[in-house]
Amino acid sequence: MMTHRGIAAAPGVAMGKVFKFDTEDFSIPRKPIQESDIGAEVLRLEESLIQTRKQIQEIQRKLADDLGKEHAAIFNAHLLVLEDQSIREEIINGLKQQLLNVEFIFDEVFQRHLKAFSRTNDEYLRERTADIEDVRKRILSNLLGKATDALTQLDEPVVVVARDLSPSETAQMSKEHVIAFVTEVGGRTSHTAIMAKSLEIPAVVGLVGARTRVESGQYIIVDGTHGEVVIEPDPPTIQHYELAQRKNKELTGRLQHLKDLPAETLDNHHVELMANIELPEEMPAVLAHGAQGIGLFRTEFLYLNRSDFPTEEEQFEAYKTVAEQMHGKPVVVRTMDLGGDKFISPVGLPSEMNPFMGWRAIRFSLARPHIFRIQLRAILRASVFGNLKIMYPLVSGVEEVRRANEILAEVKEELKREGVPFAEKFEVGAMIEVPSAAITCDLIAQEVDFFSIGTNDLIQYALAVDRVNEKIAYLYEPTHPAILRLIHQVVTVAHENNLWVGMCGEMAGEPEMTLLLLGMGLDELSTSPVQLPLVKRLVRSIKMEEAKKVVDEAMKLHTAKEVEAFLTASLREMAPDVMVEE
Ligand code: PEP
Ligand code: MG
Repeated sequence: MMTHRGIAAAPGVAMGKVFKFDTEDFSIPRKPIQESDIGAEVLRLEESLIQTRKQIQEIQRKLADDLGKEHAAIFNAHLLVLEDQSIREEIINGLKQQLLNVEFIFDEVFQRHLKAFSRTNDEYLRERTADIEDVRKRILSNLLGKATDALTQLDEPVVVVARDLSPSETAQMSKEHVIAFVTEVGGRTSHTAIMAKSLEIPAVVGLVGARTRVESGQYIIVDGTHGEVVIEPDPPTIQHYELAQRKNKELTGRLQHLKDLPAETLDNHHVELMANIELPEEMPAVLAHGAQGIGLFRTEFLYLNRSDFPTEEEQFEAYKTVAEQMHGKPVVVRTMDLGGDKFISPVGLPSEMNPFMGWRAIRFSLARPHIFRIQLRAILRASVFGNLKIMYPLVSGVEEVRRANEILAEVKEELKREGVPFAEKFEVGAMIEVPSAAITCDLIAQEVDFFSIGTNDLIQYALAVDRVNEKIAYLYEPTHPAILRLIHQVVTVAHENNLWVGMCGEMAGEPEMTLLLLGMGLDELSTSPVQLPLVKRLVRSIKMEEAKKVVDEAMKLHTAKEVEAFLTASLREMAPDVMVEE
């Protein structure tokens, strides 16, 4: 038995067999063939080359339309590799000489070329290695059938162990077959962790070397609440975790009756408890956990698992569905936050040195207004079916908000001219998640109706700690005095300007933070639906007056650890019957 510690990403305990998932390495079969099969194998190769060429040209076409010709040109080198006659001849010769299946021979030839390229002194040629590698993967996945389908084709419950899971892979998982997952990279606010919470799948991320520690088929326990993974547990350990599983279930059952009760403190202070969602499919969970609205609809997830941008009609349907299902309760639709760790790989956004500080979110939308307009049109059209609000992600100053608002006004005019109905008055907000926006929020306040503090990003930028880097996860401290000061300032300034202010980062759903956030005066907390009942129970167990005193004391402390310890102790004292540990 071995116990390993990673980062707790999504609560709950699960036990089962390991399924090692690797998108980086294909397992390539090696099968003997007859001389009479050579023709058929060559044909398979030709077909996969044609298919690959079509896929690349399609990506190029989309890129040229959506992002401009310069981005499309990146793939020219890929096409050249496909045209290379000498590589093709080498493969055919290999088939004839070795009488083995084409995938095997193909890979041998490409690996040889890759090695030669990476050893050369010619910098230009060395840089081509990545192109060859990319083409190799594309052709192989066409020859073998799509490798990433592995997660959709599971036929028994498993614990997925992977280096990382892309948003599209995570979105493909079904709760029925993936009972938990463990990844090597990531932090507690990485997209993988967020998706795990949405799907209500227990998960541990940032477990260094996870793939080398387990074998497929081994029995494993994943404790997503405490970030622990036990490989080949002994019977007493299994019993211990079975008990924890039962307790979790009981707690969930006990919290269920709070669903329709208001989120009000003992001294009648009300706070809006809202849900974060990624896809309309999550609505049943939102309703089951009693959210008072959607505080953050991460619309970039509509852009997943596809090679193009969703049309106005598709987006309209998605926003309309969510608006209708909330029956007039507020739904904050955040305009697309593409980039960062939420890449739209099918569209082939070029990779960047610092994606989190790069071409992301509102920066992308303002640079590609025709894509942005389509989304705004869809949101506006859906606004007549419920209570929608719009929110801009990652604004770093007033100018971006003004420009986005100008485009919004133009889109409204356009719809008016076309006679398309939309809600005349609806609120527009800015996410406060870049330190420059937090510091100048008094200026931004003049341009919008509300703020929502995105602590996932605010913490990473203010503390200079990459939110998905497991090596520095210990520095990612929501209770750092700098973060407390920033949040406090944003809430105070919002209220001075008669704006309401919410929080939609993961911090909003951490029970240990509830006292602090309530006391600071946040009007709304938005988090993964699964966290809502526990937060509500805490809100209903404390007094606003006392929460304010806690904030005064916490703001005097010098370190994140002191603040954290103080918050936990205060909560124990004020609400002793609330089992925060669970
Ligand atoms: C945030 O940054 O806190 C946030 C809610 O946005 P995302 O996690 O999607 O970046
Ligand atoms: Mg963010």
